[in-house]
Amino acid sequence: MGIKIDGKALAKDIEQRLVHEIDVEIDHAGRPPGLAVIRVGDDPASGVYVRNKEKACSRIGVKSFVLHLDKKTTIDQLISEIDLLNQNQNVDGILIQLPLPAGLNEDLVLKAISPSKDADGLHPLNLGKLLKGEIGPRSCTPAGIMALLSSNEITIEGKRAVVVGRSILVGKPMAIMLQEANATVSVAHSRTKNLIELTSQAEILVVAAGKPNLITDKHVRNNAVVIDVGIHRVKNHLMENQSGTKLCGDVDFEKVESKVSAITPVPGGVGPMTVSMLLVNTVSLWQEHCGLSFTLSDLLP
Ligand code: NAP
Repeated sequence: MGIKIDGKALAKDIEQRLVHEIDVEIDHAGRPPGLAVIRVGDDPASGVYVRNKEKACSRIGVKSFVLHLDKKTTIDQLISEIDLLNQNQNVDGILIQLPLPAGLNEDLVLKAISPSKDADGLHPLNLGKLLKGEIGPRSCTPAGIMALLSSNEITIEGKRAVVVGRSILVGKPMAIMLQEANATVSVAHSRTKNLIELTSQAEILVVAAGKPNLITDKHVRNNAVVIDVGIHRVKNHLMENQSGTKLCGDVDFEKVESKVSAITPVPGGVGPMTVSMLLVNTVSLWQEHCGLSFTLSDLLP
């Protein structure tokens, strides 16, 4: 039976460290770190994610600025709001809650955020820095996965790693970070032929396909480390809660758990780390903006 990699516990440790960093430096900085979160429209899941981010900020002493815009907001209006936040001296990080309503071009909106306030690490300049191995804010979910691997003392160097999914949010930056840590990396996507043949070579398997229970025991080699990024609410006959649904990932946890050396559960694995890394990016940007020492580089792969 593999060990369950505990993202909640690590997220809590990182938050404690950030509380300490802010405490030590706030007098010198003259103000707390600030994170602006922009939500457009009324997608209920986005509402939950934004509230979670707000709560995380208040737990560690980051001031949050939440902007909830109407779903009819035009691209020009949205970019003007981003410009105001780019100029606001109390805001260190800006995050756009994705997905945006249809008709708003995500690329244009992400590019409008100043690269020096890019809390999600998704600005093209910061993705370029990742590619070149230069310091900068990092995409939160893959950065969180790197922290999980490191804190669980899972060696990456020399390992055969496979990433399922090639999105700009998760799969692509994940593959670069693993390669930078000296794994030999393959990336699978929806056109990959014979997924089982590829994934069963992986000593480290990261799955970010957005397909519930795609990966079963057949896909996984003995003693692999499996990281499940997917998160889905599905019907559950055993009625885990009153709505008769439960959360699951892209990996069929029950089938895979006995074969692996370590695995992230859903919930409680990768999810909490994504929020933690958003806070790490924000506090790092605050350190940069306020001329403080940069103390979190070990958490930014
Ligand atoms: P996405 O943009 O939909 O990308 C999915 C990727 O998976 C695409 O590259 C797609 O290939 C590939 N794919 C789809 N079906 C496949 C299959 N059958 N075999 C192999 N590859 C397949 O999704 P995403 O934004 O990366 O997110 C992935 C999942 O992670 C979602 O469930 C999302 O909710 C979750 N997520 C969780 C967190 C967290 O904090 N826990 C954060 C971000 C995302 P093509 O490129 O060929 O289409």
